[in-house]
Amino acid sequence: MADEMQEPGLGQHGEHRRLVVGIAGGDLRAASMLRLLSEVDSITVAALAEPRSGAAAAVAARELGIFTSTDVADLSRVEGLDVILDLTDDPVIRARLVAFRPAAVEIVGARGADLIRDLLMAKKRGEEQEKLLGELKVAYDKIRGHEQKLQVGTQALEKANEELETRLSEIFFTHEFFKALTSFTSVDDVTSLVVDGANGILGAEISCVYLLDTSHWVLRFAAAQGRPREYFVDEVPLDTTIMGRAHRDGVAVETDAHAIPGSVAWTTEPDDVVSQAAVSLRSGEHVVGVMVIGSATPRQLTPAELDRLQVIGNQSSLSLQNALLHGELERLSVTDRLTELYNHGYFEQRLDEEIGRAERFGHVLSLIMIDIDDFKQFNDTYGHPRGDRVLRSVSDTITSTLREIDFAARYGGEEFVVVLPETDAAGARAVAERIREGVARLSYDGIGVDESVHKTISVGVATFPTHARSGGPLIVAADQAMYVAKRNGKNAVVVAG
Ligand code: GH3
Ligand code: MG
Ligand code: MG
Repeated sequence: MADEMQEPGLGQHGEHRRLVVGIAGGDLRAASMLRLLSEVDSITVAALAEPRSGAAAAVAARELGIFTSTDVADLSRVEGLDVILDLTDDPVIRARLVAFRPAAVEIVGARGADLIRDLLMAKKRGEEQEKLLGELKVAYDKIRGHEQKLQVGTQALEKANEELETRLSEIFFTHEFFKALTSFTSVDDVTSLVVDGANGILGAEISCVYLLDTSHWVLRFAAAQGRPREYFVDEVPLDTTIMGRAHRDGVAVETDAHAIPGSVAWTTEPDDVVSQAAVSLRSGEHVVGVMVIGSATPRQLTPAELDRLQVIGNQSSLSLQNALLHGELERLSVTDRLTELYNHGYFEQRLDEEIGRAERFGHVLSLIMIDIDDFKQFNDTYGHPRGDRVLRSVSDTITSTLREIDFAARYGGEEFVVVLPETDAAGARAVAERIREGVARLSYDGIGVDESVHKTISVGVATFPTHARSGGPLIVAADQAMYVAKRNGKNAVVVAG
């Protein structure tokens, strides 16, 4: 028969045909076989024969909608049956099956069924593994996708966060900086704050401020950060360095600081600076100073940073102007206008401080009182303006004779006073002599063409604690010594007795 010659499972036209199976027996083994077989696409489990309706396979068959019968003979009546699996292990049943089956139906016993089950199980495991693998792959791809998204998200978030934090700290710093600027009144404080601000707001590695000295037309060191003091030149000429360009143009940026020869000459180590930028500090139309930032690594300022550099410059300018004004007012309040020595008020205050210090440290201190001889007569002869010139010449002679720790003041009209800390009477007498000689050597134009006039001074010296133990009595003692010099013929130095 042509049908029987065909491979099992192949239909007349070669297409897959379903294998129709009947099962005899209803125990657990049969139940699992039933379930396994019914899952296979190319197999139809057509019937189950089992006498006990409560048997495991009978229950499973009913669940799956498979025809069940209590008599194995019914299996032979199933339409198109190909195979009967006999799982009963019962020779009587086997005999009945053999007796009733149609000729084409094969009977497979328990051992054959076991083989089928094992094969099916293996296939199922493989399928499940594959399915599992497939599911795992889908899950993995999903997780990777999320992870990537998450990573991209996290990175963006972290970057945004970082930027935000930088901006915030900049804003806070800038705010603090501007607040501090308005509250700082001394030039030193303001210039220190400005270099601090350059560091905090611009991240400057090196920053310095130089102030314009209009009497010598140079820039003088005021404050710096990022390098030790000796790194910065004391006095920078206006024309050569980047400071000069900032002074002229308001702002100067040099990413390559060495492109212009001498541009870094504000530092003693010009090779250290690779990039630099400078901004002028202005008071109205006048430049009062320059701020420079520099770095030992190449740095290109962004437009925003350049903006900030100019903002620092502008804001600092106002405070610096105030501080300079404040400083100037303070200086004026203690300075005599004509001679530029300290005035009487400051002298008294400072004398008390110096005596207090001498007392604490057990030091001596001397006071020199100076009075110009016959000054009234000079004024009367040559006029007050010429008298003023004499006053200035005498005060210049005094200051040029003194040490750093000494100080001189205009005590009254044509009277001067000098305080010499840590100086005894003999030392003070020597200083007084030098002043007296210096003044006597000065000559002034007289009335006639070749006439030159000389002026002299009388000088009194008193020493703490030898002649007096406090300020007032010390002045009196020096004054009295000075009058002794007057009485003795003037142009002389007398030490208190
Ligand atoms: P003696 O040698 O005794 O000190 O005589 P004297 O004329 O210097 O002393 P006196 O105290 O009589 O006169 C001081 C003069 O100093 C009076 C005043 O014209 C002059 N004088 C005081 N202050 C100034 C000033 O600011 N400018 C000028 N040109 N003269 C002044
Ligand atoms: Mg006098
Ligand atoms: Mg006098």
